[in-house]
Amino acid sequence: MAIELPSPPKIGMVSLGCPKNLVDSERILTKLRSDGYGLSPDYAGADVVLVNTCGFLDSAKEESLEAIGEAIAENGRVIVTGCMGDEAEAIRARFPKVLAITGAHQYEEVVGAVHDAAPVPPSPYVDLVPEAGLKLTPRHYSYLKISEGCNHRCSFCIIPSIRGDLVSRRPDAILREAEKLVAAGTRELLVISQDTSAYGLDLRHKAFPLKGGGEVRAHMTDLARELGKLGAWVRLHYVYPYPHVDHVIPLMAEGLITPYLDIPFQHASPPVLKAMKRPANDAKVLERIAGWRAICPDIAIRSTFVVGFPGETEEDFQYLLDWLDEAQLDRVGAFRFEPVAGAAANDLPGAVPEEVKEERYARIMAKTAAISAAKLAAKVGRTLDVIIDAVDDEGGATGRSQADAPEIDGEVHLRDAGGLEPGDIVAVEIEDADEHDLFGVPVAATR
Ligand code: SF4
Repeated sequence: MAIELPSPPKIGMVSLGCPKNLVDSERILTKLRSDGYGLSPDYAGADVVLVNTCGFLDSAKEESLEAIGEAIAENGRVIVTGCMGDEAEAIRARFPKVLAITGAHQYEEVVGAVHDAAPVPPSPYVDLVPEAGLKLTPRHYSYLKISEGCNHRCSFCIIPSIRGDLVSRRPDAILREAEKLVAAGTRELLVISQDTSAYGLDLRHKAFPLKGGGEVRAHMTDLARELGKLGAWVRLHYVYPYPHVDHVIPLMAEGLITPYLDIPFQHASPPVLKAMKRPANDAKVLERIAGWRAICPDIAIRSTFVVGFPGETEEDFQYLLDWLDEAQLDRVGAFRFEPVAGAAANDLPGAVPEEVKEERYARIMAKTAAISAAKLAAKVGRTLDVIIDAVDDEGGATGRSQADAPEIDGEVHLRDAGGLEPGDIVAVEIEDADEHDLFGVPVAATR
């Protein structure tokens, strides 16, 4: 006689905010799936909806509150988790029907709240979770979180007050997770944290035994080297230019890790950096960048900058533009300063008027677009490895070179790309370029 399995409760998930939050959502869903829950792609099919919130900026908080309101209106059974869990009272005041509220990284609490709200009928026949867990990113790239929290206290940021000081994961555990991801089809590992260069500081850079023999230190360079051996692209995000960053550049030159550094400089003018209390605020950073390029000419450097920080003068801003002319960064994102409730920067004198922020924003975007256009034009005629993200019905495909992280950088648009699949890595001859993207044709499948 066939065994009738009870159908499991279904969970809906709304994940807001940064890639780190996305990784938290994946972990929560992986645990719930292994506990026997099903997933629902829509509100109607869900027995309970989880909203993983972001509280980084006031605009992100408002977006989180709107998402909670929508989930309540559409489904009614809502559990809130993530950074806004710290503001439980405000959420309850606005949405008294919310079933439970838990904070960032309180995995056990949020999973427990789901079990209370929608218990799984006991069954010995529930499927196990896939080896690599459940992923919200496409199968061919995965975010790999190596630490939580941050030891810095940048004056515009409230992350340390929400997430606490740096807590690094053990390198052997990170490598195990990375191995599983690669075995499950990941071709690109995106290493994330609040401060990747500080990885392992709290563990005193201790060495941990490796499964196949040998050991690995809890240190960015050692971890990058071991990750590089897995055969996937390894892309480092949120790196601060401490002196030891120089040691990962040879790994890029050797082809062991992707020649790409995401360094959120935020500004260049010394008085502004001082007011921002930025880490690794090194006056010689331009020389460092030149040194990195001498070792690894193809290194792509991406960064973000804030314009209109309190006290930023026209002289400071012009210093930043001149610095960008020299630094020739490959990819740049810019933000207008936005005061975040609770951030020390809000009390600084010299608030910059909104129209001045807008004008500076337009100027930095024009400057960086011109630099990007020239750098991309110089790639026309070259053959670059490209990872395929999507294919269309007309023989075209979209991918990224090693200089482009998903979501935040440019793309490579391919013609005559029939037969390719997402996750393929192919050699592409670059035929054209604009301010942000490249255009080309595959010449051969690389792998
Ligand atoms: S380095 Fe600064 S901006 Fe980044 S998380 Fe730490 S305090 Fe925030």
